[in-house]
Amino acid sequence: MKREHLIKPVLGQPYAIIRSGKGVFLYDDQGKTYLDASSGAITAGIGHGVQEVIDAMAEQAGKVSFVYRSQFTSEPAEELAKKLSDLTPGQDYWSFFVNSGSEATETAMKIAIQHWQERGLPSKNKVISRRMSYHGITMGALSMSGHALRRRRFISLLADYPVVEPPYCYRCPLQKTYPTCQIACADDLAAAIQRIGAEHIAAFIAEPIVGAAGGAITPPDDYYKKIKTICELNNILFIADEVMTGIGRTGKMFAMEHYGVEPDLIALGKGMSAGYTPIAATMVKDHVMAPILQGSRSVMSGHTFSANPQSAAVALAVIRYIEGHHLVHAAHTRGSYLIAKLQTMAVGIPIIGDVRGKGLLLAIEFIQDRVSKQLFPPEAAITTRIIDAAFHKGLLMYPAAGAIDGAGDAILVAPPLVITEAEIDLLVQLLEESIRQVMVEIT
Ligand code: PLP
Repeated sequence: MKREHLIKPVLGQPYAIIRSGKGVFLYDDQGKTYLDASSGAITAGIGHGVQEVIDAMAEQAGKVSFVYRSQFTSEPAEELAKKLSDLTPGQDYWSFFVNSGSEATETAMKIAIQHWQERGLPSKNKVISRRMSYHGITMGALSMSGHALRRRRFISLLADYPVVEPPYCYRCPLQKTYPTCQIACADDLAAAIQRIGAEHIAAFIAEPIVGAAGGAITPPDDYYKKIKTICELNNILFIADEVMTGIGRTGKMFAMEHYGVEPDLIALGKGMSAGYTPIAATMVKDHVMAPILQGSRSVMSGHTFSANPQSAAVALAVIRYIEGHHLVHAAHTRGSYLIAKLQTMAVGIPIIGDVRGKGLLLAIEFIQDRVSKQLFPPEAAITTRIIDAAFHKGLLMYPAAGAIDGAGDAILVAPPLVITEAEIDLLVQLLEESIRQVMVEIT
């Protein structure tokens, strides 16, 4: 085998080479077509090969691709920050641009801590997150993530941040049932604050709908209102990690709109540029910025490529495309069509325990037995087998496995927002064939 130089996720394994993409399809150099039912990593929201974005990219490259944020600003970066603020339903937000979702959540963490420092409360420096969560792979973001598999190697180096129980109703960690539970999982946040002391806590971070760390775990409608009240009562900032859910994916521009809650900080990434360029953002509400504006007047963070004009121009073009083609509404209507088809499919497949999610951020959880909800042992590798079977049939799916103390099987079903009903029909057909194939193999 030819010597390799690119570090890929699994070393020594052959990877197909993609030559081109159009809409929801990718094409490899061997003539194989893939239906991208995961939008890559829930990223390619507007599909591949959109001419308007390619044109915007070329136009900005023709002007200037890079300016350094400590020396200059640029029209696309200024415009994008205003655009993001305009997209939120309520108060104004500032934006700090970074290059990945991990940097966006980590920057949110740093800004939250700085906010309290500038208010003379430097001991408020811990961030509470939830047990089943993923906020990124950098050390700060990983410190706030509950994802056991991704933390394992670095645990001794991570900050010791507390975690609380997630709103995982299908498999309630508190063995309760909604609505009689009165959302006891939110009370777990209040209990943690009391235990640790609000004077040590800067913020609480949560994905509005949990992505890879469990599979489209969707809380009850009134969960976030209760969470926000607990945060406000205790002087704790609320960070919404909308890296996966943001910019239309769930059928609202921001998933937090489903719950009628305005976060103090929002992390964005993935769908913000739909993968056409690396860019992400930390959005910060006016009242969080206020003590910084009156104090040091400088957010203590930054990357060489922050606020890159080329990336900002691309993200602007993507957002305009989403608006111009009503793709937020499409995520809602296509999502309703897709979840109904998945639920019908699930009836005849006993290893499907739950189908859930909002808009086009959906998931299927697999179990051994529907009554006991018993998990498959991790060595059965059910998620990997289903994803591999689908891949061979030309269908791309995203894993959300190993989130329950290293076990648990789920896949995300999250195609580009431009998917048509006919393409959804094909997706469900290929997915059903893949799941049935694995079901036969394991029985
Ligand atoms: N936050 C959430 C909710 C994510 O799903 C991810 C990535 O999957 C991240 C943060 C990290 O983003 P990135 O991989 O761009 O660093």
